Amino acid sequence: MTNQLADKNTEALRQTKWHTLTQSEIEKILQTGPNGLKTAEIQDRLARFGSNRLPPPKRRGPLIRLLMQFHNILLYIMTAAALITALLDHWVDSGVLLAVIMVNVFIGFIQEGKAETALDSIRAMLSPRATVIRDDSRHEIDAAELVPGDVVLLVSGDRVPADIRLTSIRELQIDEATLTGESIPVKKHIETSLPDTSLGDRSGMIYSGTLVVFGQASGIVVSTGSTTELGKINQMLTDIKSLSTPLLRQIDNFGRILAIAILAASVATFVLGTIWRGHAPEEMFMMAIALIASAIPEGLPAIMTVTLALGVQRMARRNAIIRQLPAVEALGSVTVICSDKTGTLTRNEMTVQHVICADHVFNISGVGYTPAGECNIDGHVIDPAHYPALTLAIRTGVLCNDARLQKEHGQWHVEGDPTEGALLVLGEKTSFSRHLANTAWPRLDVIPFESQYSFMATYHRDSDDKPWIFVKGAPERILEMCTTQLHQNNEQPLDAGYWQRMATTTAAQGLRLLALACKRTAPQENNLKMTDMETGFTLLALIGIIDPPREEVIRAVAECHRAGIRVKMITGDHAETACAIGAQLAIGTGKPALTGVEIAAMDDNALRNVVMNIDIFARASPEHKLRLVEALQASGQVVAMTGDGVNDAPALKRADVGVAMGMKGTEVAKEASDIVLADDNFATIVSAVREGRAVYDNLKKFILFMLPVSGGLTLIIIAAILFELTLPLTPAQALWINMVTASTLGLALAFEPAERNIMNRHPRPPAEAFLSGFFVWRILMVSVLMMISALGLFLWELGNGTRIETAHTIAVNTIVMAEMFYLLNSRHIFAPITLIKGLTGNRYILLTIVVCTLLQIVYTHLPAMQAIFKSTDLSVLEWCKSIAAGLMVFYAIELEKFIIRCTHFVSLTAKG
Ligand code: ADP
Ligand code: MG
Repeated sequence: MTNQLADKNTEALRQTKWHTLTQSEIEKILQTGPNGLKTAEIQDRLARFGSNRLPPPKRRGPLIRLLMQFHNILLYIMTAAALITALLDHWVDSGVLLAVIMVNVFIGFIQEGKAETALDSIRAMLSPRATVIRDDSRHEIDAAELVPGDVVLLVSGDRVPADIRLTSIRELQIDEATLTGESIPVKKHIETSLPDTSLGDRSGMIYSGTLVVFGQASGIVVSTGSTTELGKINQMLTDIKSLSTPLLRQIDNFGRILAIAILAASVATFVLGTIWRGHAPEEMFMMAIALIASAIPEGLPAIMTVTLALGVQRMARRNAIIRQLPAVEALGSVTVICSDKTGTLTRNEMTVQHVICADHVFNISGVGYTPAGECNIDGHVIDPAHYPALTLAIRTGVLCNDARLQKEHGQWHVEGDPTEGALLVLGEKTSFSRHLANTAWPRLDVIPFESQYSFMATYHRDSDDKPWIFVKGAPERILEMCTTQLHQNNEQPLDAGYWQRMATTTAAQGLRLLALACKRTAPQENNLKMTDMETGFTLLALIGIIDPPREEVIRAVAECHRAGIRVKMITGDHAETACAIGAQLAIGTGKPALTGVEIAAMDDNALRNVVMNIDIFARASPEHKLRLVEALQASGQVVAMTGDGVNDAPALKRADVGVAMGMKGTEVAKEASDIVLADDNFATIVSAVREGRAVYDNLKKFILFMLPVSGGLTLIIIAAILFELTLPLTPAQALWINMVTASTLGLALAFEPAERNIMNRHPRPPAEAFLSGFFVWRILMVSVLMMISALGLFLWELGNGTRIETAHTIAVNTIVMAEMFYLLNSRHIFAPITLIKGLTGNRYILLTIVVCTLLQIVYTHLPAMQAIFKSTDLSVLEWCKSIAAGLMVFYAIELEKFIIRCTHFVSLTAKG
């Protein structure tokens, strides 16, 4: 077989117009069939056609990336300054300017690298999977391992993993927007098309990267990787563009405006100084450069990006994969989390506990997926074979089922829907296995489970070739279809009251409900249509399935409540079940649930009025989710919404933070989401909120740290110019402080752990301005403190007849000391901190302070540095003066925090 394919020219295969060929022609060309490829052949084909991956987008090489760092308004200004200083023969200053430019470029380069690794690791976590038939059985594989000839199965919600010629479909609809731009889903057929049919009209083909939004299909892979249509237009999917968020853009703009303002101020200084005051142009030019060097917060944007990248990585480590970066910020202001119940709040390890028939209530022993346990009535073990309704119900559960129960390494586990898995385990416990079912009762057709219909049906023939339709689903839905019930061996008229009573009492114990029914006729047109599902069924049993809540969710919900975040449960389950589970989790305790039917009956206004008072929404379908998000947003809430199905996509898109399930979620839902939960766990959302708040805090802390350093320097220069004092700092010295020491120190704040009370505060109002009144005040105050300490000490030393070099060195050291102490203050915006506490709890703080101290010792005492920066050796006493001044700044700021805490000002501005 392989050899025949090998004979064919790869290029010829590429040129083949697959849409014009029939299934059998393609099977012949690609040497495949309905049973799929043989595993032995896969390696050969992989070697020949390559793996099914698009080449990663062309990265700019490191050199280009390095050069691109120069393309930045700030660096243009600095380069110009370096040139002019060189022309003026100020070689040292121009050398330092150049060095600073290099440092800046280097930090930018590192930051970009950090950002890219963060994004790469996210991309790797989002790699798609595919279901194939190989060796005549189903496998779920990495989509990258697909080869031409593979037989692929697709259901709604999947992303098409390669270019595929369809061989069988069921009401298939594909969203081809990625390829054709057409946003309305297209219906597919399996017929061939004419050779020159355009891409969008080839109805027998589906293309890599498009989405299955409805129905099911199977087909043969015809091209993979870069030979697919998607590969030809070379477009990466789920690509995360760049590491930026509204806040970062805001800061970027702020930085640009600041730079221009500073440039203007420097020009004004120069012009006024030379023309009005008559100073030498050269001297004034150096003043202007000093101003530029001190006022522009050079490290700001780069370190903010690093902070964000670190946050994204930390979240990924906790299983929250950020797809849209603005979500990191939005997370910090979430006020309501709407969560699915099954699998997110609960463990999704389902076990059938009760089978309720018309004649008896059976209890099933055993927990989990291990098929050990038996049936009993009131504790007396029975043989199911003596109870016809029970056996038929179990058979229905096993046949009307798409899951697989497997034993691997001694562990039983379920592939597919856990609800269905529970029914397989029940079958296994009572010796009616899937294997038996498939041979004796071949399945001819299926209507798969969709949340909006709440049932699943299959059509079979038994060994006597008699037709059967089996259905399972939500009890209300199934009851509507039934006219009779099975009582022992007899069909009786349906006693709806009995079933409703049984359903309510079972659900009130927190059990998930399913009803099972059958009909002994063939579908009208030999395949199942909705019209076959309207009436004439015989109800067999109600099944009560336990799905216990996750332990960690109980804690996470409590944490949300402390953090001022409401948790709402949205489920397709019965209201009683939802309330019982809610009670165990402290969601909506004591309040009634609202059902989908009731939501549908309300208009938007009415819904808005009740939405904040109700925490449990039962029997809700995906379209209700969208209305709930809208109603919550209309009442001013910032909403995180979870989802997994195709129909959840609009609600996920609409929510402020759309959260998709990584394990049971469809590709369509992931595509629409901002965050993907790798473990489907509600508690992960809460830890992401915590991280989101921490990242935002750290950005704030960093800005609060960085700006006063520039601010202090600027004030010093301005004061010197205004009062015609000797410049306390040369441009080179200002640059040293601003660039080398402040950036090094500030970086430590990117690693700052979340504050202990971070989840005890209320969510941040989304409209809150970043640079609030308080921020401006704090920045000004600290700038003034820095100026007073450095300029004061400088003037005092000069007054005492100290040499100018010594006074300069003391001034520089004072600012650096003040910076180091202020770094400790900055670890909490309002909360108090002591020197000892400030140095512990974040090892980067200690590290940067040690590094910075060493740098400063080198700056002061190393002859080479003395030659460059005109610094001189200081005595121990002089060192102590700088340290004392720094300490004063530290305590002054702690005093300010204390006063703020005492007044109610704090609760108004930042709730921290
Ligand atoms: P949720 O995931 O919030 O529990 P679903 O929409 O998945 O809600 O399920 C709603 C109801 O549909 C369930 O209570 C159950 O009765 C029924 N149901 C769930 N899964 C299946 C399935 N695979 N086949 C048939 N019915 C199902
Ligand atoms: Mg479900």
